[in-house]
Amino acid sequence: MPETTAISAPSLESLGLSRDRPLVLVDVDEVLGLFMQGFGDFLASRGLEMRIERFALFQNIYRPGEAQHVDLDTGRELFNAFFADHCHRIEPAPGAVAALNRLTASAEILILSNAPAEAERLRARWLESHGLKHPLILNSGPKGPIAAALTAQTPQPTAFVDDLLPNLDSVADHSPATATFQHVADERLRPFAPRSERHPRIDDWAELAEAIETAIRR
Ligand SMILES: [Mg+2]
Repeated sequence: MPETTAISAPSLESLGLSRDRPLVLVDVDEVLGLFMQGFGDFLASRGLEMRIERFALFQNIYRPGEAQHVDLDTGRELFNAFFADHCHRIEPAPGAVAALNRLTASAEILILSNAPAEAERLRARWLESHGLKHPLILNSGPKGPIAAALTAQTPQPTAFVDDLLPNLDSVADHSPATATFQHVADERLRPFAPRSERHPRIDDWAELAEAIETAIRR
């Protein structure tokens, strides 16, 4: 069992979410949005290349013609610059907007994204520009504690979607009743993305929406 779930989360009411319907927590990067593609475009505008050769981020960034990826500090700097100014330019993952619109009929949706705090305004604007008028929480670190603090507020079934196993494992550990699903939006990334028997891996959004609906039906 996890040691503690003592983390403060906003109340569902303050987020505009009802306790009378199931709650679905959804990640953004590589779940709702094509992050690697958008970040790759940003890198290209800076004369750099994204080579998707492993399930990693900074180790896939190269200067043209070089065989060694950029160092960690450079990678982090680019990552922060992307989130400060460019993260609203990513494309939605195929089928994601339609799937969320469909889920809205049967569940409350909360967007739970690990992104730098500076990204909040642009990320919220991005969601809105695609008609996804759902509350957004920016988190850092494993998502289990914040997810547990949110799911504990509702007696209804809950579900969580993310691309990263550490986040999925963290939520499963801290909020065991929550149904967890792995989704990897970028087709180039899928073959490299580790999967786990703990979490169904569903890369097709229509199929995923159906599985979520089944999981939160009581
Ligand atoms: Mg993600």
